[in-house]
Amino acid sequence: MIPLQIAASTPSADPFIARLNSEGRAFELERTNGRTPFDVDLELVGSGKLVYRSASIELELKSVDVNDVDGDVVFVNPARGIAHRLVRAGSAHNTFLITERCDQLCVMCSQPPKRGHVDMFPYFEAAALLAPKGAVLGVSGGEPTLFKGQLLPFLERVLGQRPDLSFHVLTNAQHFDVDDVRALSRLPRDRVTWGVPLYSSDSEVHDGIVGKVGAFHKLAEGLAILARSGATLELRTVLMTRNVEALPALARFVASHVPFATSWAIMQLENIGYGRLNWAELFHDHSQRFEPVGEAIDLARSRGLDVWLYNFPRCTVPSDYRQLAPPTISDWKRRYPAGCDGCAEKAECSGLFEWHTDDRGFTRFGLL
Ligand code: SF4
Repeated sequence: MIPLQIAASTPSADPFIARLNSEGRAFELERTNGRTPFDVDLELVGSGKLVYRSASIELELKSVDVNDVDGDVVFVNPARGIAHRLVRAGSAHNTFLITERCDQLCVMCSQPPKRGHVDMFPYFEAAALLAPKGAVLGVSGGEPTLFKGQLLPFLERVLGQRPDLSFHVLTNAQHFDVDDVRALSRLPRDRVTWGVPLYSSDSEVHDGIVGKVGAFHKLAEGLAILARSGATLELRTVLMTRNVEALPALARFVASHVPFATSWAIMQLENIGYGRLNWAELFHDHSQRFEPVGEAIDLARSRGLDVWLYNFPRCTVPSDYRQLAPPTISDWKRRYPAGCDGCAEKAECSGLFEWHTDDRGFTRFGLL
């Protein structure tokens, strides 16, 4: 697994942001978005350590390859002795975790919420402005819009200063109201995509999955606000035993009630957090029974909606639908079992989550 944290030491007492520069990738970055006070230059490659320095920063990283982190933007927490890789220059999968708080409690949540919250917006903003040219940055949680008063100005400021960047924001859309339309409308439509989960067209089923009474109706209000704001919407539905048979009904619902959605992602369950705890009850093996998924896809596409299969290994998907299954699992938590060696589809395939154990997998796997 690709490490997102690196052991670090620094004489600084306060946390700070730094961009790591050596002779390689960072040189290209410097030419694309300029040198800044956050840039630190490689001074020494020692046994098991890298030393970076600028006029005001000294930073030592341990047990990491210089080429793996070149150009990365890190948040250094001296008290914990950790450098968090907020933006990995060589990756398309960079996400800012705005908060671990959430007002829902989804049965399959991969990252169950916590009560505490640390405001990282100033650091995220500095990091975003240092991101490689053309980067798409993820925003996630918890529920980021619990802090919409900071989130929306953060997006506007970054997008205003970096016209090459885009954001993908995951939200349960429970917290938008009419007063947000103006701020949402100011965000460039083509550079912010809102990823919003909708699990069923039946309000009771949806509310049961997200663990919140009234969530479905609040979601409908939130989607209406996004529509009024001209936002770009990606609907997301995690496939589960609780909703798989009614997936065609959900496709009809989306086509008629959420026509402004630009895409619909049907996602496989992640075997971690509550997803692992409730796996036996929730996991639907689509490699055994794809029919309701295929029917839903056909219905949605016939109404002009783009449909994608996220986190579906390509060999578990019937060939007619395989082109809808891109490599969506983030690089740092993706693995390819030994059976994938030599597979012609590997470059286009999600593979498996790092924590997806072989005994909890798909019945039909590796059979292209
Ligand atoms: S064998 Fe591996 S790489 Fe090939 S399609 Fe299946 S999961 Fe993907």
